[in-house]
Amino acid sequence: MHFYLATSFIFPRSLRLRLFTLCFVATHLPLLGYSSWGLATGRIALTEFILLTLMTLFGTAIALIGIGALLNPIHALAETLNRREEAALPKMGDVIQTLYAGVHRAASTAQAQIDDLHVAAHEDTLTGIANRRGFLAQITALPRDQRRGCVAIIDIDHFKQVNDQLGHDEGDRVLAAFADRLSAQLRRVDRVARWGGEEFVIFFHGAAEDEACWSLSRIAAQMRSDPIGRIHGRPISFSAGVCRWGGDAVDGAMSAADTALYEAKQSGRDRICRAATAAQMV
Ligand code: GH3
Ligand code: MG
Ligand code: MG
Repeated sequence: MHFYLATSFIFPRSLRLRLFTLCFVATHLPLLGYSSWGLATGRIALTEFILLTLMTLFGTAIALIGIGALLNPIHALAETLNRREEAALPKMGDVIQTLYAGVHRAASTAQAQIDDLHVAAHEDTLTGIANRRGFLAQITALPRDQRRGCVAIIDIDHFKQVNDQLGHDEGDRVLAAFADRLSAQLRRVDRVARWGGEEFVIFFHGAAEDEACWSLSRIAAQMRSDPIGRIHGRPISFSAGVCRWGGDAVDGAMSAADTALYEAKQSGRDRICRAATAAQMV
């Protein structure tokens, strides 16, 4: 290896030429030695010199042809291997394209998973409407000038009896049917969500208390005319508490609506109360 590297200065790229050069120099050494000695002593014989030169050249030719022939199969093998390596290795452009496609695919999958997680975190699986977290996220995302209206907390009356009498599956069906009923009766700009258990919440966008209460009264009337279920033969009803919301932290309005809901329950259920006056509407 040391010799291989040490001779690389002769022909750095071609081993064949390097071998030929070394062979040429080595085979001419006797001739050089004889010529130098003859010139130095003056005892050189012309016939011997010519004969030695011809034999040296002849020997060099044989050495060169022999080495060339010996190297041929090695070179052929090396070229075959090189061609295979080139064919096996993808082009740089292909590598970058493949890498880019892989990264893009991974990023899209990650984004889809993030979207799924986001939906799962903000949606109620039973009813398909927003959950408490989703509702609050929607409300707080509203632009400043649209954070006005009414919030209502709605609670199904005697819902425990639905479970007790008709079973949990029927209870689940009633919850889903009630969510559909609320969603169907609201405007596009309003927001409805399942607050938890058998409680729901509505944001009446830009509505005054009167408008929110009328809207809830219409739904209550429909619960009687077209019931989503019955308890002891009576249509399932709901109670609600309504409070104005002027754009501040929504917790205050929700808490006031909850107090109004309590008032509605205490007053006999199947009714809607306002937070300010806790006045009976239905
Ligand atoms: P009130 O008129 O005072 O509101 O009485 P209520 O029976 O509706 O209220 P209560 O708090 O006593 O009972 C609510 C029941 O709702 C208890 C609970 O098991 C049931 N519930 C809560 N979440 C679900 C649910 O996802 N599916 C079913 N089937 N029942 C649920
Ligand atoms: Mg309740
Ligand atoms: Mg209830």
